[in-house]
Amino acid sequence: MAESVFSYKGSELFVEDVSLDQLAEELGTPLYVYSTKAILDNLASYQKAFADRPHLIAYSVKAASNLAILSLVQKQGGGADIVSGGELFRALKAGIDPQKIVFSGVGKTKAEMAEALKAGILSFNVESAPELAALSQVAQSLGLKAPIAFRVNPDVDPQTHPYVATGFRDSKFGVPVEEALKLYKVAQEDPNIEIVGLDCHIGSQLTSLGPFKATAERLLVLLGKIKALGLELKILDLGGGLGIDYYDQKDPDKIPPLTKDYARAFSAIYQAYPGLTIVLEPGRSVVGPAGVLLVTTLYDKITPFKRFFITDGAMNDLIRPSLYGSYHNIKPVKDQGRPAALVNVVGPVCESGDFLAQDRALPIVQPGERLAVFGAGAYGFSMASNYNSRARSAEVLVNGATFRIIRTRETREDLIRGETL
Ligand SMILES: *Cc1c(COP(=O)(O)O)cnc(C)c1O
Repeated sequence: MAESVFSYKGSELFVEDVSLDQLAEELGTPLYVYSTKAILDNLASYQKAFADRPHLIAYSVKAASNLAILSLVQKQGGGADIVSGGELFRALKAGIDPQKIVFSGVGKTKAEMAEALKAGILSFNVESAPELAALSQVAQSLGLKAPIAFRVNPDVDPQTHPYVATGFRDSKFGVPVEEALKLYKVAQEDPNIEIVGLDCHIGSQLTSLGPFKATAERLLVLLGKIKALGLELKILDLGGGLGIDYYDQKDPDKIPPLTKDYARAFSAIYQAYPGLTIVLEPGRSVVGPAGVLLVTTLYDKITPFKRFFITDGAMNDLIRPSLYGSYHNIKPVKDQGRPAALVNVVGPVCESGDFLAQDRALPIVQPGERLAVFGAGAYGFSMASNYNSRARSAEVLVNGATFRIIRTRETREDLIRGETL
């Protein structure tokens, strides 16, 4: 996507015009650092790709949920894709227009539905028949009409990690395309429901256009059948899922498509339905490349079998390597010109699955020196936990030569909040 905002000036790694080593020195580690410019550029890239048709960028809040990040999205005219009442609360706090909020997820509670209905969101992305029935009841009890889109499962293989593939027919997400029409008919008869759109989201970290093109073909067929029911949809939600380059261009098969090519994959739909507003739910591709996790090396542990860089950052800070076996590029914050060694980068958490990298060739670092873990802006802090009673890190937003702490480091007191003896 956007040109990298991370670069060495001399031997020191900078984000925009701020030295990462100085940030770590001042604020401690582990530390999440985001670039304002990268987030804005990535949003702008979507806006440009879809500029010649009505569209809404509904940023996927779960990728990185900090209020300051949501506020950047809001100021750029973006909306939010939420998957919980908690995310609705955040999006509204950040000033996002409820008419730019879509609510996804297979397990919305009635309380969450009521909150979102009262807020006046754009659409509920409904994922099952019983969910539709529950939403109808809630709407009736409030004397409101619930705007909905059905999330369909186009049954395409997104060629991504199984845990983030969501569009297979045996997935818990969405409704099979064949069943969608039946549900549209049920909804059409329901006075508490207003049909506004069609939705799909086939998975995350997609690095090729094929699955998007296959989805477009299936959606086009379904849109024709929906039209034949006499329904005129306002929105077509294409979900999120565009991948990012975790490998820093080292692996040509893993470089994701550009937003403009992604937009073009759906062009047959725009031609057939020029009045549809295209809703997009990107998360990873907006914030992923915009963030790094800074960690400090504690020990260089050499055994006859392995060499470990033990850092103060761990799986509770960034779980993606442990959860999905994900690759994150890692670089020293200060390049000392040292030779590389084959190492595992691990944290202090008491799990063998606690690693940030395995069998990685990295320049040798000495205790006290810092490493930057790249591509950590999405599903990094938002998936962080307090496991091993580790306080969650601070989050910092850089803008040019300035920075702002957008979440303070948790304290010992934070760790026991709400607990009693
Ligand atoms: C997680 C999620 C997204 C965002 O996916 P990315 O791969 O981060 O772009 C969009 N829509 C839904 C329904 C999701 O669950």
